[in-house]
This record gives sequence, structure tokens and C-alpha cells, in this order.
Amino acid sequence: MNATATVSVTVDEARVQLAELHQELVRYQLVAWTAGNVSARAQGPDGDVMVIKPSGVSYDRLTPASMIVCDLDGTVLEGSLSPSSDTAAHAYVYRHRTDVGGVVHTHSTYACAWAARNEEIPCVLTAMADEFGGPIPVGPFAIIGDDSIGVGIVATLHEHRSRAVLMANHGVFTIGTDATDAVKAAVMCEDVARSVHLARQLGNLVPIPQEAIDRLYERYQNVYGQP
Ligand SMILES: [Zn+2]
Repeated sequence: MNATATVSVTVDEARVQLAELHQELVRYQLVAWTAGNVSARAQGPDGDVMVIKPSGVSYDRLTPASMIVCDLDGTVLEGSLSPSSDTAAHAYVYRHRTDVGGVVHTHSTYACAWAARNEEIPCVLTAMADEFGGPIPVGPFAIIGDDSIGVGIVATLHEHRSRAVLMANHGVFTIGTDATDAVKAAVMCEDVARSVHLARQLGNLVPIPQEAIDRLYERYQNVYGQP
């Protein structure tokens, strides 16, 4: 996830992808009302742009045409609605991580329970080692209004293999090579947040040795799946 991103989607392709991916947030029960958003990096006529959900529009009414195109400073280029209120955070990530092609933000329930305690999710399941290569870290407390959320996301993920960060007292941000990859990270983050939460209700968590985490992560990132 540190190679320079090869941006292969056009703005029109990103619009279609994002309309579909916002339905995945609903399907996996990661969002309530209109909270939560997905964005994608896309090719504009003068370089990279980002495509993101409009603010406050119900998921049922999101269409490819309703998506908002912004430059990587978050200024709207195309679209009649206001972009997501999290646009500045997404834009900051794209500006500072050229390997990132998609960003997701949710307030998914179990991940937020960890974020509310400012507690990282320890790596106690092989699925976590596979997907995140270690714990899912906590980022700083930051509120909307400036770049502080974006700064916190980038600084925290820089220190970890994880593609997910629990922003303190807030929720989840995930990154991916493209928007689908970032949605997958959001789904898997909530899944392990739930499992580890349940485990801790009944007893002590047993850590996985670092050497095993490294082997699992290496295998899953490089060998797992279809060639
Ligand atoms: Zn939020």
C-alpha cells in the first residue's frame, strides 16, 4: 500500500462505483441515516481529482449523477449539491498519500465503541493479522473545521500497516488502493471490532506472536486469492 497509486478510473467510472459502494455501507450495516461516506481518486483533465458523496443525501437517493467532483483541496468542480462534510479530511489524505485511491468514513457501531474508549483493537485474530497486519490504531481527537482530522489520519496510518484508523471519540477512516479496497477495510474493521469486543466480555484476549502476525500478513497480502 506504499507504491505510487496508478489511477486508472475516470470520473464517470468513479461516479458509478461510488453509487454502488455507498449501498455496500448500508448492506453491511456500517451507517445510520446519512452518516458515512466513500470517495475515490479519479483522473481529471488537469490531473487527479476526487469524487465524493453529497452531504446529507439519503443512501436510497444517491446516484452516479449526484456525486460531487472536487479538486484535491476539496474545492467543488462539478455538482450542484454540497460535498460531504468530511471532504477536507478525504482531500488531505489524497494530497499526502499518493498510493491511496479510495477513502471511507463510517461511525460503525463496534468500531465506535473502541473509539469512544480511545482504545486500539489488539491483533488477536488471524483475520486481523491478514487484513491489517497488527492492531487497528487510535488517531487523535480532532473535530471538523480544519485539516486536523486529515493530519491525524495520515500521521497515525504512517506508523502502522493497518488501513483503518479509529479516530478518538469519533469513528473509522479507512484507506485503500481504490474505493472498493477502502470499503473492504471498513467492513473488516467493523467485523473484527465486534469479534474482539465479544471476546473481551468473556475473558482475557490472547495476543498473536509478532512473528506469526508478520507471516500471516505477508501471505495474505501476496499469495491469498486468485492470481
Ligand atoms: Zn464522522
